[in-house]
This record gives sequence, structure tokens and C-alpha cells, in this order.
Amino acid sequence: MIQTIGIIGAGQMGNGIAHVLSLAGYDVLLTDASNAQMQKALKLIEGNLERQVGRGRLDQANMLAALGRIKIVAGLPELADADLVIEAAAEDEDIKRQILTDLGPILKPEGLIATNTSSISITRLAAVSGRPEKFMGMHFMNPVPVMELVELIRGIATDEPTFTAVREVVLKTGKIPANAEDFPAFIVNRILMPMVNEAVYTLYEGVGTVEGIDTSMRLGAHHRMGPLQLADFIGLDTCLAIMQTLYEGLADTKYRPCPLLVKYVEAGWLGRKTDRGFYDYHGDTPVPTR
Ligand code: NAD
Repeated sequence: MIQTIGIIGAGQMGNGIAHVLSLAGYDVLLTDASNAQMQKALKLIEGNLERQVGRGRLDQANMLAALGRIKIVAGLPELADADLVIEAAAEDEDIKRQILTDLGPILKPEGLIATNTSSISITRLAAVSGRPEKFMGMHFMNPVPVMELVELIRGIATDEPTFTAVREVVLKTGKIPANAEDFPAFIVNRILMPMVNEAVYTLYEGVGTVEGIDTSMRLGAHHRMGPLQLADFIGLDTCLAIMQTLYEGLADTKYRPCPLLVKYVEAGWLGRKTDRGFYDYHGDTPVPTR
């Protein structure tokens, strides 16, 4: 039975995952390499839960109970007794490998591990976890409290009890699980990210401006967000990392990351999380940066 869930990484995804799991009744242990990020995550979760109360979707008592189930902890050793640990740190294979290598010997032997990676091979990450049969992909969508889907990805060694237990957790949050095979970027990002990359190429080649491209896709394809707005929302570092995984993993030039996307990431213009990407978010309304 899963009751206590550890989350590694308290960024945009980690805080959202903590939010929905605590509302579903799980005890959550949230950790991050950055103390400031953990404090920021708690404030964000509180604000987002309060907004749900304001909209009449949640009552005050349930909000307080959910907040009471989230505990910020200093590091991996405090996750030792978790029944499930979800890794949601940056989309960087070296970082994830290090975390999993360190976590393996600390976590109780029956503990399960899931990764929220958007694109990296589950089988490869499972191999360094020391328990590949108890390891799988659990890919939440952003923003977690709003999006209904969670992709579930088995590695080559994932056993059935692990898959069933993680699926149960997804169902308990009220979300819909979808199975994907362990190929680079799974289903959603395999389709979505080349579109985002193509939008950046469209900008790079001068076919349209930031505003022109986003307006075209919003009004012409009825997308809720334009692709550049979406890229800023996801994080340009994450978008680039996913394109690199697709490019290398499938060895096909059609996935070549746009040089302009590379340049934005090199500049540290990562989108909303750094207040600047294809738009500048310092003022009341976002202003295109090109
Ligand atoms: P983010 O940049 O907002 O957060 C990443 C967090 O990881 C940061 O707070 C950072 O301090 C922390 N971190 C880095 N190294 C660490 C370490 N060694 N130990 C502990 N914490 C560490 O990124 P995000 O958007 O939350 O993405 C996290 C994961 O979720 C990535 O694998 C990403 O691909 C995946 N994901 C992202 C989205 C999205 O739309 N952004 C959607 C689905 C999945």
C-alpha cells in the first residue's frame, strides 16, 4: 500500500505533483537541491490551493488537511521510508543518474521509484536505480493540478505489481493514465515538441514574428496557447533537452534543435521561470523579445 510519497525536485512539476498527491490523501515529502526553491514551492502550492477554494472547487478544511500532509525535507536520506519516490528534478540525464544512484541504497528495499522525465529512456535510468523491476516512468503534464493525463512508461524490467501500484496512485488523483512505450519522449512530447521546435525555426527564418506565430496558431489551429508561449511555459531548457533526446535517441535530423532555441537557453532566457524567454514577463502583460 502506498501512503508516503517522496518527490525529488520542487520546480514547476514537483510542486504541482505535491499539490495533487496531497489532495488525494498521500503524505508527501518534498525535497530539492535548492532551499529557496523548496520555500517557493510551498508558497506556490498554498496559493494554488487557495485559488481552488476561491473558485468553490475545494473547501477550506480539505485545503488545510492537504497542506498539513506536505513536508519539506532536507535531502534524500529523509526519503528512506517512502513507499514511492517520484524524481522530478531538471531534465538532465547526468543529474537524474546521480540522484538515482544516490537514492538506490537509501530507499527501503520495497520502495518504488518513478521518474517524471519528459524524454529520457526509462530503461537507462532504471539501470542505475539498483531496482529496475521497481522503477518506471510517471509523466505528469504541466500544470499538474489542471491537466488530466499521466503517461505511464514501463522500462524493460518493470514488474507488474509496480505498474499496478503506480497506476492506482494516478487513478486516486482523479487523473487518466495512458500507456506509452519506452521510446524517446514517449507520446505527448514526441508529437508536441517537434511542433514547438518548428515554431522556433519559423521565428529563426523570419517567416513570422513571435506575436505573428502565436496568434496564427491560436486563431488558425485553435490551440489554447501559441507554440512560443507554450515553450516559455514549459521552460526552454526542458524543450531543448527533449529535442536533444529525440535527435540523439532516434538519430534523425528532423529532430535537430533550432539554433535559436539553443541561443535562448545559453542566454539563460528559459521562459516564465526566469521571467524572460520568447516573451518578457517582468511587466503586467508579456512583451515579445523579438
Ligand atoms: P524546473 O527547472 O522548474 O525544476 C527542476 C528542479 O530540480 C529545480 O527546482 C532544481 O533546483 C531541482 N534540482 C536540480 N538538481 C537537483 C538535484 N540534484 N537534487 C534535487 N533537486 C534538484 O523543471 P520542471 O519543469 O519542474 O521539470 C522537472 C522534470 O519534469 C523534468 O524531468 C522535466 O522534463 C519534467 N517535465 C516537465 C514538464 C514541463 O512542462 N515543464 C512537463 C512534464 C514533465
